[in-house]
Amino acid sequence: MKITIKIYSAVFLILSLFFFQPGVFAQNKYTIVIHGGAGYIPPDMPKEIKEAYLNSLTKALNIGKKILEEGGSSLDAVEQVIRYFEDDSLFNAGKGAVFTSAGTHELDASIMVGKDLTTGAVAGVKTIKHPISLARLVMEKTPHVLFAGEGADKLGERFGVDIVDNKYFDTYKRFKQWKKKHKEFDVKGTVGCVAIDKDGNITAGTSTGGLTDKWEGRVGDSPLINAGTYADNNTCGVSGTGTGELFIRNTIAYNVSALMKFKNYTLKQAAEEVIFKYLPEGSGGIIAVDKDGNYQLVFNTSSMLRGVANSDGVFEVKIWK
Ligand code: ASP
Repeated sequence: MKITIKIYSAVFLILSLFFFQPGVFAQNKYTIVIHGGAGYIPPDMPKEIKEAYLNSLTKALNIGKKILEEGGSSLDAVEQVIRYFEDDSLFNAGKGAVFTSAGTHELDASIMVGKDLTTGAVAGVKTIKHPISLARLVMEKTPHVLFAGEGADKLGERFGVDIVDNKYFDTYKRFKQWKKKHKEFDVKGTVGCVAIDKDGNITAGTSTGGLTDKWEGRVGDSPLINAGTYADNNTCGVSGTGTGELFIRNTIAYNVSALMKFKNYTLKQAAEEVIFKYLPEGSGGIIAVDKDGNYQLVFNTSSMLRGVANSDGVFEVKIWK
């Protein structure tokens, strides 16, 4: 009898030590946010196009949600969600990348892991089918952080990633936009994803074709850590979309984290400060998740293609405010 009581007490003690550690409860939770670009989408856009965007956002969100639900890492979730977007010509990343002024395509992407601040990025690649996966390889398999231009394309070949001809990225929709015949529909279409997994690790990633008609060689904020992407397990993860030059000049992604770290801002306060105070109206938006799984999707444009899902049952995709 006495022995049984002792065994029960020991089991209880071990279990309580495990469960009452700070943060352990939070560890069975996850949150994922996605964006497909900010800009102007007319509210009376054709129903089929609206449905197509919402369906695609839903599919992307489900890919990430499933990985996180099954205990996968935020790194895998972010990479897989962005790869999905890169294959979908609706978005300005991978297949649907916009045209440069020279009539070509130059793609940028970055990824960052908040656990140890490791990160990888590629800028101005012309032949990489999934720039986000090459960014991950830069992070995991090289001693460097950012590869640009020809060297980055060559690195992709060396790593055996899917290589395509630059013409692969030609789509009629982007061609029309480039020729300025499609001005009324001005959502830039960059994609991003931020997630916190059940282990409390945050990852953020962003992928884009950049701005329509950008000068050859122009690099935006998306492959620049601190500007377009940032993640730190102690604060939050952020992915941005909008006029890259403004995001670079205002160090947007890092500043969300810095306001939390140095000024004790909540995620909401920090996200709203950078979007509404640091940036002029109409310049873009961010998606962000903090270390406790709180999320923010904030933009100062008329719309941002976006979505959120978490372990509390939230699942939402939206275009307008
Ligand atoms: N931020 C991207 C860039 O400037 C564009 C976008 O987000 O739509 O390259």
